Amino acid sequence: MAEKKYILLDERASVDTNFDKFKRFISRTFKSELFTGLWVVLREMLFTKSHTLKYPLQKIELDARYRGVHRLMRFIESENERCIGCGLCEKICVSNCIAMQTALDENGRKATLKYSINLGRCVYCGFCADVCPELAIVHGDRYEFASEQRAYFGMKDDFLTKDKDLSEQTEFEGYGSLPPNADVLVKQNPNAYLEEENLDETDEIPTASARALNLNAKEADEKANKESQDV
Ligand code: SF4
Ligand code: SF4
Repeated sequence: MAEKKYILLDERASVDTNFDKFKRFISRTFKSELFTGLWVVLREMLFTKSHTLKYPLQKIELDARYRGVHRLMRFIESENERCIGCGLCEKICVSNCIAMQTALDENGRKATLKYSINLGRCVYCGFCADVCPELAIVHGDRYEFASEQRAYFGMKDDFLTKDKDLSEQTEFEGYGSLPPNADVLVKQNPNAYLEEENLDETDEIPTASARALNLNAKEADEKANKESQDV
């Protein structure tokens, strides 16, 4: 078998002189991509709004579903705590960082005496807020909770809406609560469809939040009636 001969063809121009070397240096250094990148940087610098904030004087606006430090909500009308001490949040917590203590109050209802979350251990997964049947625990938008210690406990008073803030607390607020478009997002149960069928065409179908608000108003009325009867 005849021996094959391979010839290496170097199509690049030979670089013999210093001028050739200079030309090669320029062509390798100043590619068009470099100017494209520089133009993008200049355009962002000169013609667009700054994305940086003067922290801590300015704070970032967070999405409503941001999972910050927890909040324990209260009913606006009755000012009662929403938490019924069912313990679901404590059970589902993946980090085992919720601890609570409950007891029966003078009316025989379960009341949450103590409630603490180890914020240093919490992974802010949102399970506690998702599982809460009373929309009592939600995630707020507070994100500044640096601590010198790894274990950093928030107590019930830290999470519960304060009296002075109650007027500013919206009925449903934060991750874990009902968003305004809950009816679109949440699949209604079959009973809701049956209710809709029984409504006249002119009747307005109550939204989930409206139904919840009506319930709260009913509770407040019942409480007011009871108080007036006691007097
Ligand atoms: S966010 Fe997750 S880890 Fe944190 S307290 Fe709730 S369930 Fe536990
Ligand atoms: S916060 Fe919600 S889930 Fe946790 S004990 Fe109270 S009602 Fe139950």
